[in-house]
Amino acid sequence: MTPPHRRFPGARHVLASACTTALLTSCASSTSAEKAAPPAPVAAAPAAPPASKPKPTYGTFGFDSSGMDRDIAPGDDFYGFANGAWVRRTEIPPDRSSYGMFTTLAEQADQRNRELIEAQRQAPAGSEARKVGDLFASFMDEAAIEARGVTPLKPELERIAAIGQREQLATVLGATLRADVDALNMGDVTTDRLFGLWVAEDLNEPSRYAPYLLQGGLWLPDRDYYLADSPRFTELRERYQAHIAAMLKLAGFDDVETRAGRVFALERKMAQAHVSQVDTRDISKANNPWPRAEFTKRAPGLAWKAFFAAAGLGTQEQFIVWQPSALTALSKLAQSEPLQAWKDYLAFHAVARAAPYLPKAFVDESFAFNGKTLTGTPALKERWKRGVDATNHSMGEAVGKLYVAKHFPPEVKAEAEAMVRNIITAFEKRIDALTWMSPDTRTRAKEKVGTLQASIGHPEKWRDYSGLDIVAGDAYGNAERAVRFEYQRNVAKLDQPVDRKEWYMVPQLVNALNSPQQNSIIFPAAILQPPFFDANADPAVNYGGIGAVIGHEIVHSFDDVGAKFDARGKLENWWTKEDEAKFQAAGKALAAQYDAYRPLPDLAVNGELTLGENIADMAGVAVAHDAYQLSLGGKPAPVIDGYTGDQRFFLGFGQVWRTSYREPYLRRIIMTDGHSPGPYRTATVRNLDAWYGAFDVKPGQTLFLAPEQRVRIW
Ligand SMILES: [Zn+2]
Repeated sequence: MTPPHRRFPGARHVLASACTTALLTSCASSTSAEKAAPPAPVAAAPAAPPASKPKPTYGTFGFDSSGMDRDIAPGDDFYGFANGAWVRRTEIPPDRSSYGMFTTLAEQADQRNRELIEAQRQAPAGSEARKVGDLFASFMDEAAIEARGVTPLKPELERIAAIGQREQLATVLGATLRADVDALNMGDVTTDRLFGLWVAEDLNEPSRYAPYLLQGGLWLPDRDYYLADSPRFTELRERYQAHIAAMLKLAGFDDVETRAGRVFALERKMAQAHVSQVDTRDISKANNPWPRAEFTKRAPGLAWKAFFAAAGLGTQEQFIVWQPSALTALSKLAQSEPLQAWKDYLAFHAVARAAPYLPKAFVDESFAFNGKTLTGTPALKERWKRGVDATNHSMGEAVGKLYVAKHFPPEVKAEAEAMVRNIITAFEKRIDALTWMSPDTRTRAKEKVGTLQASIGHPEKWRDYSGLDIVAGDAYGNAERAVRFEYQRNVAKLDQPVDRKEWYMVPQLVNALNSPQQNSIIFPAAILQPPFFDANADPAVNYGGIGAVIGHEIVHSFDDVGAKFDARGKLENWWTKEDEAKFQAAGKALAAQYDAYRPLPDLAVNGELTLGENIADMAGVAVAHDAYQLSLGGKPAPVIDGYTGDQRFFLGFGQVWRTSYREPYLRRIIMTDGHSPGPYRTATVRNLDAWYGAFDVKPGQTLFLAPEQRVRIW
């Protein structure tokens, strides 16, 4: 089971699930010295609201004017202008690696979920609701967990200890394969198991499912953590080895330093086999159908027959291998590396995965490394918060069903649906107005947006948990059964017709998603509330907030990856050569813009890794702005408290991405996450002409781009 802190979300949704930071100053490519210069007077900059007026609050007026810093010129540092006071006064809570607007809502969702979950203890025995209650209660029962010690993990460790030859190794690896990755929807491309399985529509024929195999095996977030040659990573690797030894010792192993050395050496070889995050994102490298019968020839080493049989995939004729070179190299290690190294490796991973469900000594050691060292977070989350995470992880849609019934009124759904329709219409108009695109490509683009499905709040059909056994008092067993249940649900999909309405995200998550294979966008209930969305609030701020999020998800269908899928969700090039060349050139320019941002002195944003998200942000806010203008019906926007409509729109946008990060966590997301850090997401306003007009941005200001340098894609 993957404990919540081990999830590394990647691309195609609106943010990394734990996104935030301490990086207040850095917006745009300016240095902090440049930013410290006194701001130039800005003619159109809004005046402070008169003291007699009531303070703007979310849900009534819109953006948070008390969080702004009007001493910063918007043209020099728009993020600082919109959020400077907030940045100065906001401390990241001790149990968080980052903090921002998404986190505020996530904390509210945690509270709500706790109440909903705890109330289910009284539900009828055997009901789904009771399973939710029992699952949480089992996690909360620390006395029972302490009393059982490492016993729940014993059978797993015994299976590993019994490995005597290579075929048994393959059987254990196959039996522990899980559906714990998702390359295109959630963008979770990391698993600490040797491989990850993802079951989704076939890239070549979206009317059927295909099993995808992705590289895995590393505990640290990315190959660079093993291979980067810097004192910082050298130290981190030493700490990691000490952590491996400590976990094995807690689980009762002897000679733990030697074992830790073997585990690390094996993982380091796996890291060398891995392809980079950028290559993993490159869909043109991912579409590799391999017949099952060919694995032994194409990737010799692992006893594939035993592996697939143990995984319940022995009759599956074909797989799609996402990173073939990595799969081949990882498979070779199954033959070349000592069995004892594999056994130590499997034992450590089993213990490390189980740690959140084991006694306190395991929890503390796990947090000391995975929380403190890897993300810089000083304090472990309270147990109930971890319990809510664990319950969401194991029975997410069952909790979601309760959440929606209580906290998602039908009128909010109707209002959000109307807004999504407005923004899709605005996007269609933008396509009509594109000057660089030929009529042929335009027709295909229109066809694709015309068939885009939007799903608001929650899935139409809820997942069935009747086959999942939840045993009161068995925290580890429940989590183990839940991940196995999820695996079996996915494997079973291979024999079923495609469900184009399946949700890959739960309704109680503050996030949003685009699925290129479904040609769909989804907006969970938990993001459709103030401060993102309030149908009674100022439309300017609504469009700048949730409107830009909706635009972002629509544009994902047309970002550098999404644009390679047709209206049916098939990986197929529908572009003319000339149009594709222009599209790629514009993408390169945007990547270069982001490559120039340097959140840490020794680490820049990776423009290629974040390109899809940056296209979605840039064109998403542009289409939201169009939709806002359309919503005015030709009338001028009212001025409220001295702010014009466009100013309020962009301030709403600028505040959505306010985020403070702890340094190790910021470093990690820059290296592994498809999203740019919050302040740089805000900076994309410099590509929009309307922003220049709204704040009278002039040549010479830090964010100024001459009209021909502004990137325009959609
Ligand atoms: Zn996204």
